[in-house]
Amino acid sequence: MHEKEPFVNHQFDYDVVIIGAGISGLYQLYKLRQLGLRVCVFEAGDGVGGTWHWNRYPGARFDSESYSYAYSFSQELLDEWNWSEHFASQPEILRYLEHVSDKFDLLRDIHLSSPIKAAKYNDQARSWKVILDDGESCTTRVLITAVGILSQPTLPSIEGMDSFKGSAFHTSRWPKAHSELKGQNVAVIGTGASGVQVIQELAKDVGHLTVFQRRPNWCAPLHNGKINSDEMQDIKASYPAMFEQCRTSQAGFTWSIDPRDTFDVTSDERNAFWEKLYASKGMAIWQGNFKDILVDPKANLAISEFIETKIRARIHNPVTADMLIPKDHGFGTRRVPLETHYYEVYNQPNVDLINIVETPIIRITGDGILTSNQEFIFDTIVYATGFDALGGSFDKIDIEGTGGALLKDKWNTKMETYLALQVFGYPNMLMINGPQGLGGNHPVNIQYTVEWITDLVKHMTEQDITRAEATPEGIEGWNRHINDKSSGSLMNGVDSWMTGVNKNVEGKGIRILGARYGGSVQSYRGLCDEVSSNGYEAMNLS
Ligand code: NAP
Repeated sequence: MHEKEPFVNHQFDYDVVIIGAGISGLYQLYKLRQLGLRVCVFEAGDGVGGTWHWNRYPGARFDSESYSYAYSFSQELLDEWNWSEHFASQPEILRYLEHVSDKFDLLRDIHLSSPIKAAKYNDQARSWKVILDDGESCTTRVLITAVGILSQPTLPSIEGMDSFKGSAFHTSRWPKAHSELKGQNVAVIGTGASGVQVIQELAKDVGHLTVFQRRPNWCAPLHNGKINSDEMQDIKASYPAMFEQCRTSQAGFTWSIDPRDTFDVTSDERNAFWEKLYASKGMAIWQGNFKDILVDPKANLAISEFIETKIRARIHNPVTADMLIPKDHGFGTRRVPLETHYYEVYNQPNVDLINIVETPIIRITGDGILTSNQEFIFDTIVYATGFDALGGSFDKIDIEGTGGALLKDKWNTKMETYLALQVFGYPNMLMINGPQGLGGNHPVNIQYTVEWITDLVKHMTEQDITRAEATPEGIEGWNRHINDKSSGSLMNGVDSWMTGVNKNVEGKGIRILGARYGGSVQSYRGLCDEVSSNGYEAMNLS
């Protein structure tokens, strides 16, 4: 038996250590400070902002409405912050997060440029030892990971990559000093959401742009626009209703799925509805569509054909248009990149599209890229090749649980969690936005999770609980639930980082059962609320 001791133990350096100072880590620090706890954040980057610190490639911007992607916890913050665009660009988003950090004086507890190498759980002391890359270490009762789901970039392994004499970088590691590629001969490899954003921006002023595409995605118009001050006042007035809408929607967005099925309406009504959605802002065509488009193959085919017609109409050369139509998955079954004149870019004389399934890249040369067809010469190569999603940022830290088991080994073949919040064998470690969690509008979901974790930590402090762990039964139940919720989804058969079949990561198999939770924001909250309101019965607290 373990002697009962208080949660706060001054032999430990901190009560809580948080890894990461992005949207999750900043809010978690703010909330835990309010409990009067000793909290410290370690952040690998040299500034706050997480995703929005790292992804500074030209064209990076929100594709959820700026105001719906922001924090809603502080009325003062909501009142004072004005967004300049419906879908803000990365510099504005970073300014916002820096403002939050300044306003709430968060920086004083954040160690920047402090990547963590390892975290080891000590079951005797019921605490974690956190070891930084530079060898420094500290101890803490609770460890919270706020590491993001798309933080670990993946590069392809192509022969000769090191031999390239020009500049080469991943979209999420864009050099601060290298903001302009004006007039250059540039290659982009990859056409996911990042690729689409960077391609449409670079095409404006590079000398020549060559896009190397493995598989196209179904993209839809973003319809961004400036927000004038009257409009911003109207948006502010709508905040309570808008945040309530996000909280009660399927995926946390401002759009709700239409309760009708595709073939409930006449073809004229259907087309009119789709025309309206295609002309609407942001995720409308994906998240505001008929409820069966992602479960009924016929409905999915119909919406895919509608989008295909739209794409073909925007591209002059039918051969190029054909290359940009996905053939291996239907609309919406992978993440829909939102675009601004993306398809029109391929009408420009300074842009070429290369199908690297037909003419594969053989190697990177000193001067450029050699495909099975020809050698291309470049000044810069941009890798828009995605991320080792969900597990990648955990894998790079040696997280050692009870009995010295490394999380990366445990998760090597199967990532399993309890409510995306905890892992069996890793007591007192809590995850914000962990694997098997909610997808969609992350800040909406992050805020809820941070508040849930804060309540748990408060409960631990009040009840002198020094050990909190998920149970194997809880994990089994969550796996079953994830399976049930994704059953029948057309996404299941499609590879993408969202379904855990991530071809960006060479050599890694399927590691996850239902990478993201397929239920709604409301049902996830309901389940988590039930756990906390019944005294965390489903967890092992002592
Ligand atoms: P991604 O969607 O995974 O796309 C990676 C791209 O690189 C795909 O086109 C992939 O081709 C290609 N690729 C990967 N490995 C390759 C290789 N070895 N050779 C050739 N091509 C290769 O990654 P992402 O575009 O960075 O986007 C990831 C996620 O980040 C998005 O789904 C979204 O959730 C988020 N994101 C959000 C925003 C926003 O909110 N504004 C912006 C950007 C990204 P295949 O398709 O054939 O695998």
